[in-house]
Amino acid sequence: MNQLKVCKFGGTSMADGNVILSAAKIVKADPARRYVVVSAPGKRFGGDIKVTDLLYACSDCYEAGDLNAFEEAFGKICARFESIEKEIGKNLGMRAALDEVRSEILNGAGRDYCASRGEYLAAKIMAAVLEIPFVDATELIRFKPNGQLDEASFSLAGEVLKKYPQAVVPGFYGLGADGKVKTFSRGGGDISGSIVARAVAAELYENWTDVSGFYACDPRIVSSPKCIVELSYQELRELSYMGANVLHSESIFPVRSAGIPIRIANTFRPEDAGTYIVKSAHRRTGDDIVTGIAGKKDFCVISLEKSMMNAEVGFVGKVLSVIENHGISFEHLPSGIDTMSLVIDNAYLKNGILETILNEIKEAVHPDRLYIHENIALVATVGHGMANNIGTSARLFTALSKANINVIMIDQGSSELNIIVGVDNKDCDECIRAIYREFFKEEER
Ligand code: ASP
Repeated sequence: MNQLKVCKFGGTSMADGNVILSAAKIVKADPARRYVVVSAPGKRFGGDIKVTDLLYACSDCYEAGDLNAFEEAFGKICARFESIEKEIGKNLGMRAALDEVRSEILNGAGRDYCASRGEYLAAKIMAAVLEIPFVDATELIRFKPNGQLDEASFSLAGEVLKKYPQAVVPGFYGLGADGKVKTFSRGGGDISGSIVARAVAAELYENWTDVSGFYACDPRIVSSPKCIVELSYQELRELSYMGANVLHSESIFPVRSAGIPIRIANTFRPEDAGTYIVKSAHRRTGDDIVTGIAGKKDFCVISLEKSMMNAEVGFVGKVLSVIENHGISFEHLPSGIDTMSLVIDNAYLKNGILETILNEIKEAVHPDRLYIHENIALVATVGHGMANNIGTSARLFTALSKANINVIMIDQGSSELNIIVGVDNKDCDECIRAIYREFFKEEER
């Protein structure tokens, strides 16, 4: 087996000099950990500001032409990196590197360039601490003109990294089709780690963070939820898309097709086993039928009723063209013989767009009834085990009715991997707790 691991350290694992030294110790503890991908320094304590947020603030000031505010914001970034250098107790050349970044921003290098510098400087620091080469992400990761990841990055990064038996790579960015630095969406360092793992054909992609694995639900909603030992890529994708934010939901794509497992591990408790994300998690039975529960607020459900809808060729297509014409994508499309609903993220429906869409739908398909539910939360109960266990939905809905939760919409994914319920935003947390109690806590039922 190819003894090769890629480790990615998230923002809290890079937050100050001491934790960077702990991360470096983790890397050194296993010679297979040859490639390291890092995030920008994150929060050191509640109320602290992530370096990436400071950089976006700098960029805002620059774009607004307020140079005094820019200097003030940039000063905070300098202070952050200089204190890291001091804590590490080694000259890491931060002053010169920061001066260069400042002048590039002032020369109009762009917003993504500015946002990416937290990762760039963090990777320079990690490379100096580990005494291994720094390889810039612009040499490895490329984007297509439409802004999507260019999959040619896998072979490009593989070729480049072949020259380096060990390297530190900054996460979160690559080179755009216009030749400028381009970032992924927030939290995208996880995607960079996955691309590097794929490129070097790693045996394992280790994602080091500040939790000991992927929990069955958000610990802020249920205290000390079960830590999942193993879950499948698909379960992870469903849960992270629905708000479980341990890993970026797009980070599985590069490793999935190569079958490289991901391990979520805790930099602050490296001895903990963590969670493994694999191709097909063990079939679960009995109490393990549900793998996890996640919820996301702020959706709008547009529901239509029309007699004989099922017989009307092109009905759904006409409704979908209306939202397509407004550049809006939908999350779910539950339907019955005479009914259909569209679940849309509220973010798309600002500035009167909802009103316009409703009018256009009426005109396009003349429904008997058209109504909306606003401020809906979607709660997904996810698990491969659900397909094989009769009575899972009965248990779920009985638990919700016992908890007095009004279910506004139900959607079961066609793979039987998840059951999604739509509830009022205010019921979201209680809905998650009720499902958790039913499937994970025998004694509390
Ligand atoms: N630093 C970036 C962010 O805060 C990317 C990352 O941490 O993965 O979103």
